Amino acid sequence: MENPNTYIYISNILTSWYQANKRDLPWRSISDPYKIWISEIILQQTRVNQGLDYYLRFVERFSGVKELAEANEDEVLKYWQGLGYYSRARNLHKASLQISTKFEGNFPQNHSAVLQLSGIGDYTAAAICSFAYNQPYAVVDGNVYRVLSRLFGIETPIDSSKGKKEFAEIAQHLLPKSESGLHNQAIMEFGALQCIPASPDCNNCPLKSVCQAFELNLVTILPIKLQKTKVSNRYFNYLFIKYNDETFLQKRIAKDVWQNLYEFPLIESDQLVEITDLIESEKFKNLFQGISQVEIIKKSNPMKHILTHRVIFAQFITVTVSELNNKLQKLVQIPLNEIDRFAVSRLMELFLESLIKSNS
Ligand code: SF4
Repeated sequence: MENPNTYIYISNILTSWYQANKRDLPWRSISDPYKIWISEIILQQTRVNQGLDYYLRFVERFSGVKELAEANEDEVLKYWQGLGYYSRARNLHKASLQISTKFEGNFPQNHSAVLQLSGIGDYTAAAICSFAYNQPYAVVDGNVYRVLSRLFGIETPIDSSKGKKEFAEIAQHLLPKSESGLHNQAIMEFGALQCIPASPDCNNCPLKSVCQAFELNLVTILPIKLQKTKVSNRYFNYLFIKYNDETFLQKRIAKDVWQNLYEFPLIESDQLVEITDLIESEKFKNLFQGISQVEIIKKSNPMKHILTHRVIFAQFITVTVSELNNKLQKLVQIPLNEIDRFAVSRLMELFLESLIKSNS
């Protein structure tokens, strides 16, 4: 363990740097655990610039636990549309129901109770408890891993269990118990603005005199990560089916990407397929069985959509039908101009935007 005075020195520098350099954001300087929770969940996988508007719209519509718990999950997902990682929105809604039932709608103050809510892990519980209640729990997110690994010259991989334990312990030692919220915000902001992943401005860093990575020339090497994310390809053939002025959607209920969002009927294939092959597939024939006129109107250009663990290659095929069969009747049948009411993936949204452009 480092000299405790070094810890105090580092924490003091971090907090004074923070006071001078922090961005002015609406979830800063508030102690409402609900709003802090929403902002933290949004910012988990989203950059501040993109997340800000979503945050403002979300807390305006769902101003507290009660409003969120009373809403329908479809509406919560609609407010999340475009942010990705939709399990975050589903868990927010689920946790608001847990707070309503178990805590009479009051956000819990006890760290272990906060940790038990859906979608809340160590990082989020520490953020809420320290920012809202100034409780002494150190946050460790990607920014903090980077700052700590560089400051203390730690080469243990941050995604190993040994590394997670080691970094959590150092973060906790570094935390001044009386200023937990301020210190946590400071170290995260320092990682986001000063000790950035590539080419940090070390020469103008207030911590360079104690930074091991700077001294040992390890800045570009740290932090060390073991695993590369495995990425697989998927091939989605969406059927934009028109029946008079109506179309059809289905809800993605399986535990898969975009769970509980809506989409056009989908035929997934093992590789990119030509329309002629798609029409001959069992799934296509099944979907349109018994319909006298099924006409392929057009096919979109192939679209490539990148998610964390998957690359989705998609094409949208516009089809008109002369009548309905059982299969189509089981789908969500809606007027074409009402698609907008449904929460859809960014991929679907991009296709719908291209449709509007081509019709205008
Ligand atoms: S000197 Fe460079 S690597 Fe070290 S804390 Fe400062 S910005 Fe980060």
